Amino acid sequence: MTHLNTNNSGNHKDPVCGMDVSSDKNSITATWNDQTYYFCAQTCLDAFEKSPEAYQKKSSFFLKRWWSNYLKRLNKVTNGKPQCCDKKS
Ligand SMILES: [Zn+2]
Repeated sequence: MTHLNTNNSGNHKDPVCGMDVSSDKNSITATWNDQTYYFCAQTCLDAFEKSPEAYQKKSSFFLKRWWSNYLKRLNKVTNGKPQCCDKKS
């Protein structure tokens, strides 16, 4: 396992832990929705296979959109003012 990999073009991100994984024949991979995913360890693959949806880029995008919509709604309700600490001077 002490080989020097000078070819960086084969690097992939482990969707579970975010580590860079180089693709060689020893790589732990999984194919889901016509996409090949690379993993640094078997435990990451196990986590991915339990709920592959949770590790899609789309889900974090959806979460961001949901969060910004939530903030917009909150701003409407509170008129842009914080709900607590409404001190009168
Ligand atoms: Zn990993």
